[in-house]
Amino acid sequence: MSFNEVRKDYLLDRWVVIATERGRRPTDFAKKEREKAKKGVCPLCLGNEHLTPPAILVYLKSGGGIKKSRDKDGFRHKNWLIRCIPNLYPAFAPPTGKAGKMQIMKSDDLAVAIGHHEVLVESPIHNEHPANARASQLTHVINAYIDRLRELSSKPYVKYVSIFRNHGLKAGASLSHAHSQIIATPFIPRIVKEELEASKKFWTRNKKCIFCDILEKELDGPRLILENADYVVFAPWASVNPLEFWIIPKKHEATLLELSQTDVKTLAKTLKACLNGLKKLLHDPPYNYGFHLAINKSSRRFYHWHLEIYPRLAIWAGFEKSTGMYINTVTPEAAAESLRDTISS
Ligand SMILES: [Zn+2]
Ligand SMILES: [Zn+2]
Ligand SMILES: [Zn+2]
Repeated sequence: MSFNEVRKDYLLDRWVVIATERGRRPTDFAKKEREKAKKGVCPLCLGNEHLTPPAILVYLKSGGGIKKSRDKDGFRHKNWLIRCIPNLYPAFAPPTGKAGKMQIMKSDDLAVAIGHHEVLVESPIHNEHPANARASQLTHVINAYIDRLRELSSKPYVKYVSIFRNHGLKAGASLSHAHSQIIATPFIPRIVKEELEASKKFWTRNKKCIFCDILEKELDGPRLILENADYVVFAPWASVNPLEFWIIPKKHEATLLELSQTDVKTLAKTLKACLNGLKKLLHDPPYNYGFHLAINKSSRRFYHWHLEIYPRLAIWAGFEKSTGMYINTVTPEAAAESLRDTISS
């Protein structure tokens, strides 16, 4: 008999069984019917601004370009292109009183959830999700990510800014209006911290960036999904999620703050192509995505930002939850082939 492979993540001490014996094809995960969020008044739709707190940032059309502004207490901008608002039920909330002076760690196992939690409304159009967004709109979305990242990462008590998106009810999106979330935390979350530590170690030993190394290797390999002038997309070697893929910039940068407008536009196009491919392949499956980046200058040499996309297709059950080891029934190579074919067709 042949044995399954157990693969280790490029950086994390995380192992996944690639269970090919079950022989599942990526398209086995396609579903005709998706559960939809309940219908009702959408608080994120154009005209319903009064149902949400004042926006921290709005993009408004101004001549041929964009004007950036914010709402004030009783005033809400109308006819916006992008709107970023504080979450009504924030997981992390801004400090009251003197920022930065407050003690965050109360003891070894207790901290205060100081930070920020924002909702970024990606479009005035309810259903303008990245898979079918206008390129110009998706460019605004990424520019708004960068604006918020710049402001939040400059705060003394913020140590990490997580920019992520939940798509579909099963992936945790309780509102179906196209939106992302941004959470700024007073410490670096575990997975990013482990990536930082592992990439620093690799740098010390090899005097090069492990991500630059990974993308060079994946460029020639069976897990490549898409390549253009600025980005490489591939299914990671030890994907824990079926159909998982990563978008990595060719340019070595630790964070999104240095992206040029050309870089942003290409990222919008790349993201759209990949998410549209996923949508076509599996009938709009739920997914989560999250950026991994470093906001501290000391990580610039060895860390390399990337976007990880996790389709929500498998159910993690007893084994995964109790051990932190995973079973993936689709090989990353088969996932890449399916996505590659769908995107190029
Ligand atoms: Zn809506
Ligand atoms: Zn690099
Ligand atoms: Zn990562």
